Amino acid sequence: MLPQVIIIGRPNVGKSTLFNRLVGKKLALVDDQPGVTRDRRFGEAHLLGLDFTIVDTAGWEDDDPSSLPGRMRAQTEAALVGASVALFVIDSRAGLTPLDEEIARWLRVSPVPVICVANKAEGKAGDGGLFEAFSLGFGDPVALSAEHGQGLADLFEALLPHL
Ligand code: GDP
Ligand code: MG
Repeated sequence: MLPQVIIIGRPNVGKSTLFNRLVGKKLALVDDQPGVTRDRRFGEAHLLGLDFTIVDTAGWEDDDPSSLPGRMRAQTEAALVGASVALFVIDSRAGLTPLDEEIARWLRVSPVPVICVANKAEGKAGDGGLFEAFSLGFGDPVALSAEHGQGLADLFEALLPHL
């Protein structure tokens, strides 16, 4: 069985785009509207010779950020079981939001190692968000552009010790 890598983050940060990039097919629906991914999606990912199962989650979508209902949390928690590592995706153009901080607090107490992925980092627009991502306490964030396929070698290096 391949090791599992789970993608977690608030709506619209580019989780499904990253999933598609790693799987190489348009398996996950990408949409400008938050909440399009309804279920967990599994794909076989290939990254510079690494093979793993990638899991796209939507556990923090359709969610009232102030209440974090147990149903949504339980969905993501279930997905975390058996994962070797979690990719916590943030939007480096938007910077950290209260929901990002909430998810980060939640991930910090999970037993699964976390790599922070600062997505939408193409060009210079993401520099501020990348800097903010250092403050999350998950070590060096990986600057990535899922849409443009940039930063994948850095993602590979970050994943390698966990797979
Ligand atoms: P999800 O809700 O986290 O699954 O996010 P999606 O993958 O559906 O992407 C949300 C929006 O962000 C879409 O409009 C994507 O085209 C856009 N997006 C995803 N990755 C990138 C990126 O690397 N750079 C930029 N500029 N936009 C991106
Ligand atoms: Mg999605």
